[in-house]
Amino acid sequence: MYTNTQEKIKVNKIAIIGAGLGGLTCAIALRKLGYDVQVYEKARDFRPVGGGFGLLPNGLKCLDAIEPGIISLIKNSGCEVSQTVLKNNQGETIRTNKSARYQDKYGLPLITVWWWHLQQILASKVPENNIHLIATSNHPSIASFKFANISSIVSPSVIQPGSAGTSAQKPPSSAG
Ligand SMILES: Cc1cc2nc3c(=O)[nH]c(=O)nc-3n(C[C@H](O)[C@H](O)[C@H](O)COP(=O)(O)OP(=O)(O)OC[C@H]3O[C@@H](n4cnc5c(N)ncnc54)[C@H](O)[C@@H]3O)c2cc1C
Repeated sequence: MYTNTQEKIKVNKIAIIGAGLGGLTCAIALRKLGYDVQVYEKARDFRPVGGGFGLLPNGLKCLDAIEPGIISLIKNSGCEVSQTVLKNNQGETIRTNKSARYQDKYGLPLITVWWWHLQQILASKVPENNIHLIATSNHPSIASFKFANISSIVSPSVIQPGSAGTSAQKPPSSAG
């Protein structure tokens, strides 16, 4: 990892803000690269929220590159889409696509999985102790950042996925 002046700095502890799909996937990947990753999630618990989440072959392949074998877990939790139908707001069909073309062309189908199930699958690949729901978070300090209006916790490097309007702040640069 490099600073603005391209000075090489050693980072081995990383905090990720948000245990959504991006945060958890990032945590899995970074742990495989040997980083000590802590994920901080503002929700008090993982609840069954969200709708059907479509995963195309390229997304599935990315997930499988990070966590080999995860595709079968996703397939078992979701369903393969045989066709998609695009309708206008009067309910008239604009276009119908046969999804078999994904399997034929890319070797994988289009899968939909409940967002929450996908979150659960990803979370199952990160040790429970490395995911901190804010209500229970109590991690030892190296450098600090604050969750506006919620809590103050600590970590030397911060990754903030999502666009949910979090106001977590970067630690001071001197913190490494
Ligand atoms: C309606 C809808 C449908 C979509 N459908 C698809 C689809 O079919 N296929 C597809 O590939 N993509 C889809 N997307 C896009 C996909 O959901 C996002 O790309 C993906 O969820 C981004 O992951 P993320 O981890 O960055 O954010 P999120 O999954 O949104 O997760 C962010 C997490 O951060 C937490 N958080 C926020 N603020 C803080 C804070 N201050 N402190 C701690 N935690 C915090 C949140 O509670 C949440 O758990 C859809 C998006 C929407 C809105």
